[in-house]
Amino acid sequence: MLLACAGCSPKATGDAKPGSAAEIPPRLWEKFSGENALKEVRRQVDIGPRPSGTAALAEARTRITESLRQSGWEVEPQEFEHAPVPKQGTMHFINLIARFPADKSHPAAHDAQTVILGSHYDTKRMDSVRFVGANDGGSSTGALLELARVLAKAPALASRIELVFFDGEEAIVQFGPAETGPDGLVGSRHYAQQLRDSGRAKQFKFGIVWDMIGDADLTVTLPRDTPPDLSAKLFEGAEALGVRGKFGFSAGDITDDHSPLILIAKIPSMDVIDFEYPPWHTSADTMDKLSATSIETVGRITLWMLAKELGK
Ligand SMILES: [Zn+2]
Repeated sequence: MLLACAGCSPKATGDAKPGSAAEIPPRLWEKFSGENALKEVRRQVDIGPRPSGTAALAEARTRITESLRQSGWEVEPQEFEHAPVPKQGTMHFINLIARFPADKSHPAAHDAQTVILGSHYDTKRMDSVRFVGANDGGSSTGALLELARVLAKAPALASRIELVFFDGEEAIVQFGPAETGPDGLVGSRHYAQQLRDSGRAKQFKFGIVWDMIGDADLTVTLPRDTPPDLSAKLFEGAEALGVRGKFGFSAGDITDDHSPLILIAKIPSMDVIDFEYPPWHTSADTMDKLSATSIETVGRITLWMLAKELGK
């Protein structure tokens, strides 16, 4: 709702208040470049395997942080100890949370965000093969960095969005239940618990998690637990951009980083995932399986949806 105000000077785009519509450049989604995203994916994959708790994942974090700061985002590491597998000791995990200071005052407000966009940035620890997770861990992370770059062109929109790079999505041995674990979804579960316990969960309208969105043969398979209004909005975007045929539902359930957001933080959340990917969790999950077009498709549709939901 807009209120007229005699004597008010036009607001700068970054001054929009939470809850009011954000001023967004027309067709912002077209600025999302799959090629740019792919460069960010390559910077992650070049590090090699990036399991939780390793120096390689620390380097991945450094590169993510650098990229976000270059785009004008503030980055908050969310660090915690957790024992993913009982009796095998605790490990140190670090989620990265990025917020955009719309009015250039630091630190960015913590109560302005209404939508969560997330991706895991760890790769599965595999002892017998060299697993670099180009699609699984890489594609969504690179895409989120490109999204950050584009959102920075629309500060009022960017300030409504919380970007989260989850550590510990991959199970060390085997996924436990999403709400309790203890193995798998470690970062998203901790993040969701913090949202719930701090009371911040209430400020979020919805969450979107990306996972494995770079396969050249893109077939998005939304989990069965996707809130119907979120899938409808995503499909509307796919229709508008002429790629509706690439988006559908998974035959079965999919447990992923969206699950703790739904179950613990009680935030309606959707996992945009392409689970029809034969190289999943094999040494063949490499850069040559990815296409800039696929990442661009998911990036642009998500931006289309954000602009429609939060803009005017
Ligand atoms: Zn995986």
